Amino acid sequence: MQEKMLAAMYYGPKDVRVEEVPVPEMEDDGILIKIGAATTCGTDVKMYVRGYPELPVLPMPYGHECAGIAAKVGPKSTGIKEGDRVVSGIAAPCGRCFFCKRDQPIFCIDRTYLIPGGAMAGGAYAEYIAIPGIVAKNNVHLIPDNLSFAEAAMIEPLACALYGIEDLPEIRIGDSVVIVGDGAIAQFFLRLAKLRGAFVVLTGSHSDRLVKAKDFGADVVINRHDVEDQTQAVKDALGGFYPDVVIESTGIPQVWELCVNMVRRAGTVLLFGGCKSGTTVAFDTRKIHYDCLTIKSPSVYLQTPDLLKRCLYLFSSGEIKGRELISGTFPLKETVKAVESHMNRKGLKFEVIPPSFWKE
Ligand SMILES: [Zn+2]
Ligand SMILES: [Zn+2]
Repeated sequence: MQEKMLAAMYYGPKDVRVEEVPVPEMEDDGILIKIGAATTCGTDVKMYVRGYPELPVLPMPYGHECAGIAAKVGPKSTGIKEGDRVVSGIAAPCGRCFFCKRDQPIFCIDRTYLIPGGAMAGGAYAEYIAIPGIVAKNNVHLIPDNLSFAEAAMIEPLACALYGIEDLPEIRIGDSVVIVGDGAIAQFFLRLAKLRGAFVVLTGSHSDRLVKAKDFGADVVINRHDVEDQTQAVKDALGGFYPDVVIESTGIPQVWELCVNMVRRAGTVLLFGGCKSGTTVAFDTRKIHYDCLTIKSPSVYLQTPDLLKRCLYLFSSGEIKGRELISGTFPLKETVKAVESHMNRKGLKFEVIPPSFWKE
């Protein structure tokens, strides 16, 4: 077993270095995963561009979506065998705190992340990642044979969207759902809304992503650059009616405002994209109150075993074609290029492959 490995380390905004670091230590009841692929994510881009609240000591291991092979299983670990293809949740709930006890483990205030002592997830852009015992015990999953490592890695963002859509029991078969945004999470929302039987309009600004949305089953796609007024364009697409549900998936304050103004009377808005800390929005109180709006804004701190298990099903059943979201492949040493490609909207998501899985 090698002692050193290649890993992308985050030193601060615009400063990520791929360097030799020790292979992380594994707990007696933990698992050491040899990473087969990692995938880029909007959160990595946010961290890269502007930093992130509550970061642990820097430099810290970077990236949080990965999957691979169980290379070493601790003597006290049960369930997973060495050689199994596995994907791990980025954290595990404690089971003891206020939120865990009231059955809301997503908000657990004593989560165990993959970085020892870390306040957040990291370490996916590397050759190995150590899964702490508590996570190994309840949030490591076998990967179905028909899924690649990159597809399995994407259960993390898909679980966020799945949690979001399940916060919308309002959606009935045939209801109109507008998704504002065209990134990977927006495309997940599109598929999930279709599975709920909705008529889906997706608005975005990148023609290649809108083509993808059409392939994924959007009933109507709208390029905001092609229309003068997005709300009017949505209304026209819905035969003169405002939408029943609007899902915001951009993380831009003005878009939050747009979404609230777009929904029908007594409709529901899901403000899903996290905006930069300290930003504010202005809503018309009359619209919110007298139009009886429901506004929800869930944030997913950890993906529970139940969510991740169902996301593996969504990919392996083909209900969501994960591989369609991968726009390119980079070797681990070019992690920065992969994240910058994501940042520059050169595609939806990019996979990053460690040397032992890299094929020229
Ligand atoms: Zn992610
Ligand atoms: Zn807890």
